[in-house]
Order: sequence, then structure tokens, then C-alpha cells
Amino acid sequence: MRRLLLILLLLPACLIAQQNLTYRKSAGMMGSQFGLTATSPNDSLNRAAVRAGLKEIQRIENLISSWDKNSQTSEINRQAGIKAVKVDWELYSLINRSLKIAKLTEGAFDISFASADRIWKFDGSMQGLPTDSAINASVSKINYENIQLNPQDTSVFLLEKGMKIGFGGIGKGYAANRASLLMHQMGIKSGLVNAGGDIICWGRPAERELWRIGIADPKSEEKMLAWLGIKDLAVVTSGDYERFAMIEGKRYAHIINPKTGWPVSGLKSVTILCPDAELADALATSVFVLGREKGLALINQLKDVEGLLLTDEDELLSSQGIEIERSAAGENTTYQLKLRSKKP
Ligand code: ADP
Ligand code: MG
Repeated sequence: MRRLLLILLLLPACLIAQQNLTYRKSAGMMGSQFGLTATSPNDSLNRAAVRAGLKEIQRIENLISSWDKNSQTSEINRQAGIKAVKVDWELYSLINRSLKIAKLTEGAFDISFASADRIWKFDGSMQGLPTDSAINASVSKINYENIQLNPQDTSVFLLEKGMKIGFGGIGKGYAANRASLLMHQMGIKSGLVNAGGDIICWGRPAERELWRIGIADPKSEEKMLAWLGIKDLAVVTSGDYERFAMIEGKRYAHIINPKTGWPVSGLKSVTILCPDAELADALATSVFVLGREKGLALINQLKDVEGLLLTDEDELLSSQGIEIERSAAGENTTYQLKLRSKKP
């Protein structure tokens, strides 16, 4: 009897010990706010994993930033047209994957877009449009085919003087992937990395089956455009509503068309859903450049990739694997998204 009582007394304690706990922390990095969430029964493990994840993101920023003069990326840019620069395998591989996406998107995604950031500033400081000759000079330096990789010594050579690379369209996704992988490897079975609104999650949250993710509404800070429940997926949005230039009453988004050197227009936001945050990040930027028809055609052609596009005219378009349900009418319309069974 005594033993039974003891067991009965111990039982709730065991249950509490097994209960999932959640730890969250955020920090500003890569020009965005990163928020990391770890869920497991072990609070100190959760804290250690989140700290390690944030440290990993900082490490990646130091390696790939084109703003930081001490980064390997800056050295590649300084040596453009001069010589090849030997870099870490990690940076080399990121550039290699960026080139693959450039080929896949026929150059819509191009990390050498960055020569244009000498003439376009999306921080509110631009007063007038750049001259045609400045745009022509800058666009002549954009060409991913002039990024030469040498696998023998993992070196990178930008063939022309004035060329510049930057990872604004893929870096956050890469960092989110790495942080989530590291936390997972540390034993965190469920977690979420929020990279300035770009999400990757795994496992399930403490009290639900699915992670409930909101997609920002470019028109409103209070309400979301759409909601969806996910697990083991990345949801990444590129929008023209956070970083842009307002010149002579016209809005210029921070994504550059590599063919023209001009900021792209036509879409307000592009959301990509797929298991890999890096691919999702790069594809969101790519689809922004490709526009609605070509962009949707590309998404529909890729396995395990879905997308939601909002046009300048507020038309909502989605790829074949997404079902859209409208949950309220009028100004407050919010959509519920459901993922259909996978494409063949
Ligand atoms: P964010 O999530 O910060 O809004 P996006 O994923 O939408 O960023 O990518 C936009 C960023 O990508 C730009 O700020 C710039 O750094 C970079 N970029 C702009 N145009 C291109 C392009 N054509 N190809 C690759 N990267 C680009
Ligand atoms: Mg992107």
C-alpha cells in the first residue's frame, strides 16, 4: 500500500518532468531580427541550443556579409578583376549553390546583383533616380557567369573589375537552415527559427499538432494576409513593403532585375513553402524578379515547392499544391492556406 501511494505521488512529478518546455530568444543580426524557439522537456538544453543557434547565425554573418570589410566576401569583392581569392569551403559551397539557382532561374537570381547597391539605396536616403548611364554601367557588371569557381583550391574570382557579390537574397535562409540543423543535432526535437519573418520549423509546438504561421499583409501591420499550419517546413516571404525607395511618388522595391539594373515591380509579396529555408529564400527573391506567370510556372515545376503571390493589384495567386480558403469578407479578409497532398 505504501509503495502504491509512493508511486501515485511520484506519477504527477514524472508527468511534469516529461512535459515539454519552451525557450525563446531573439537578437538582431544580418539586418533582421532572428527569433529562435526550442521545445523539449529539458530547460537547460533548450537554452543552450538557442544560444548555440544564435552564435551560429553570427558566425555565418561574419563569413558572408558584404558590408563587413573583414569578411571573406568583402575580400572577393575587393579583388574583382584582379585575382582569385581562396575562401572557406562553406562560403565556396554557398556561392556554388547560388550559381545553381541562377541557372535554374535563367539569371533572375544573381548574387552579382550587388554592384547595383552602389546606385540604389533602399534605406530612405535616395532623393532622385540614378542616371541612365549609371544604371547601364552597373548592369554591365551583373553576370553570374563571370563568377569563376575553382574547386581545386576553393577559390572565387569575379572576372571583371567593379563586380560585386552579395547574399541578401539567400543568406538569411542559409543561416536559418544551419541554426535549425544545429539545434536539432543538439537534441531539440521541436523548434522554430524565425529569420526576420522567414520561418523554418521542425517537430511540433508544445501544445499543438502544427506550428501556426502567419504571412504578413503588405497593406497592414495589424492583420495577417494568411495563416497556415505546418510542420517540418520553411515559409519564406519576400516583400516590397519593408525595404524600398520612394522616389517622385513611386515605390521601388529592393530586388533588382539583373537584366535591366532596375528594381522590379509587379508583385507586392512572394511566399515560398518548401522544406529548405535557403532554397525558399532564394526562390522568393527569384519569383519576385520573374513575375507572376514565369514565377508560378517555375514553382509548379519544382518538387515539394509551393508558393503564394500577391500582385500589385492585390490579386492572390497560388501554386498547384495550395488551397486557399477565405475566412472573412471585406477589409478584414484573412485567408487560410492548406497544403494539398504532394505533387507527383
Ligand atoms: P528580405 O527577406 O531581406 O526582404 P529577400 O529575400 O526579399 O530579402 O531578398 C532581397 C535582397 O536580395 C535584397 O535586399 C538584395 O540584398 C538581394 N537581391 C536583390 N536583387 C537580387 C537578385 N536579382 N538576385 C539575388 N539577390 C538579390
Ligand atoms: Mg530571398
